[in-house]
Order: sequence, then structure tokens, then C-alpha cells
Amino acid sequence: MRFKEVLTYDDVLLVPQYSDIESRREVDIGNELHEKIYLELPIISSPMDTVTESTMALAMNDAGGLGIIHRYNSIEEQVGQVKKIKKTLGGWASEKSFFLAAAVGMTGDYRERASELISYGAKVICIDVAHGHHILMKKAIQTLKKDYEKDIHIMAGNIATLQGFNDLADWGADSIRCNIGGGSICSTRVQTGHGIPGLQTILECSRSDRNAKIIADGGIRFSGDIVKAIAAGADFVMLGSLLAGTDESPGNTIVSKLSIKRKVYRGMASKEAQFDWKGEHSSNEGISTTVPYRGRVKNVLKDLRDGIVSGFSYSGARTIEELQATAKFIRQTNAGLDEGKTHILRRH
Ligand code: IMP
Repeated sequence: MRFKEVLTYDDVLLVPQYSDIESRREVDIGNELHEKIYLELPIISSPMDTVTESTMALAMNDAGGLGIIHRYNSIEEQVGQVKKIKKTLGGWASEKSFFLAAAVGMTGDYRERASELISYGAKVICIDVAHGHHILMKKAIQTLKKDYEKDIHIMAGNIATLQGFNDLADWGADSIRCNIGGGSICSTRVQTGHGIPGLQTILECSRSDRNAKIIADGGIRFSGDIVKAIAAGADFVMLGSLLAGTDESPGNTIVSKLSIKRKVYRGMASKEAQFDWKGEHSSNEGISTTVPYRGRVKNVLKDLRDGIVSGFSYSGARTIEELQATAKFIRQTNAGLDEGKTHILRRH
């Protein structure tokens, strides 16, 4: 049997290149998700119950990104989140510049859920499942596309291969979440033996001739990973752990005896999340943990934006298109990876 070498974020670096960018203001990292849906920040918050409800969706929108309201509750509860946004937004003018996005599954009540969400103004419906290269996904995408034609952006996933990407695009998906088993709280690869290192999936999907947008989802730990994902072909990135632990993520702040603050972050296939959601659990492919409390998400997003813009300028690129055309990847060794991290403390 022949084995193929596959790469992920830490295996590669981008080569710094000549730049004629004199000010970082010249760099535009925005991208179009759909006709009339342009995101100034190519970051989407994950539809997880410790990441995106109404407060996060509003903050993501304020920062120029997008938040997808999770689906791990009843239709009434999810619609309640949507209603909270509409109250907060008030007038029609502000609603016009807010892109409402929410998740559904691919079985059970998904059609009714989508219909309710759309009736409250959702423009992006994310069909959110762990293994999206599946006959039920085909049926769900085709059903929703038939119901809503071109009016609604259908995001679907997750997939790990070029074949998966092309199939979902052919079934009608407008954007596709790429990566299986790479999330920070994910145990799919150890539980099932399946998955593909995250960056490799992006490199492979970027060879597709379909029009669907590529969303690099899971395993992104630093702004540098975002730059690598976009350079490899992603149009957007989706984040969980980087946005968890903020004021805007759902859940209470836990304060320890030493006054250290933390918040819960959990995989949606963890025992804990499944139990809260449906009162039972089956295959557990994620964990529940806590992450340090990190204050306002707008500050986290500003740091990410600064890092991304700086990354573009190291490649001499003013736009996503330019970065993808000029980026040069090199493979690095473990010694190179070690050198690239701040390492002075380890010398003492
Ligand atoms: P992170 O940004 O590395 O924390 O990864 C977040 C991504 O992990 C999500 O957008 C999902 O694609 C994925 N994910 C969420 N919950 C689970 C789970 O329980 N098991 C496996 N993957 C998960």
C-alpha cells in the first residue's frame, strides 16, 4: 500500500516576499460569501453552544465577520435567539447590514427549523453535521435549495476530501466547511481512525473548479494559521476555541478560589453537550473543558485582524486573491517549528 504525505498548519511556513505595501491600510482582507453578503473580516464563529448565540452573532457582525447561531436546542429556543437580535437591532436600516445566519441538522425537524429561521430573516442556513459527505446531506441540501432557490445561502459540511467538496457543491451548497477531526475539542480521529490534517484538506479543496466557497474549519490556533489557511485556498475561516471564553460566548464565567476566571468550551459531540441537548448520548467524538476567560471578543478579533493583515503584507499581498496567487509554502522540520515559537524561557 502506498502512503501519501499530508500536511497541516505546523508543517509549513509562508516565505516572506518583496512588498510594496507602505501602509497596512492598503490591505483589504474582506471577501464575498454570497451576492449581497460581503464580510470585511473573513472570520465565521462556529455554531456551537459555547460559542455562538445572539450576543456573539451581533459582536461578529460588528467586527465585519459572521456568527452562526447554533442548533442544539428546540426550534423555539433557537428562534428566541434570533428574536433577541431583532430587538437589539431595532430599525430596518441596521437590519439591512446584519447578516442573520443559523444552523440546522440534516434529519428530523431541519426543514421546519429552516423555515422558521428564514421567516425571521435568516439569509444563511448552515447544514451542520460531523460527516457531511453523506446521502442525507444530499437530500437536505436539495430540499432546502428547492424550497428557497437562490434566496438563501446554504453552507454545508463538514467534508475532508476534494470529492466531498465537489459533491456538496454539485448538490447545491454555496459554501462548504472543510476539515474532519481537526477541532481543538475533537476526538473524531482517535475514536474513529478517520480524518485528514486540516491544511491538507484546504490544499486539496482549492483544486476544485466548483464555485462554492471554502471555509477552513477547526484547528486554527493563531492568526498565522488563518493566513496559512487563506494562502492555501480558503475563502473564510471558522473558529471555535479562539472565540470561546469571551464575554460574548454563551455560558457563565467560573471564578476559582484564586480568582482565576474560566468558561466552558465543549465539542457538540461530547457526552456533556449531547446529554444537555437530547438527554442521552451516543458516539462521543468531542470533549468538554474550560478555557481562560478572555474579555471582549472585539479585542480578540482585533488582534486576529492585525495578525492577518501583517501576514498579508509579509507576502506582499493586498487582497485574498493576491495572497493566493503569490503565496509560497515551504515545509519545515520540528527544529524549525521549535525555533519559530518564542523560546527564550526554555533556556533558563
Ligand atoms: P476549534 O476552532 O479548533 O475549536 O474547532 C471548532 C470546530 O470543531 C467546529 O467548527 C466544528 O467543525 C468542530 N467540532 C465542534 N464540536 C465537535 C465535536 O464534538 N467533535 C468534533 N468536532 C467538533
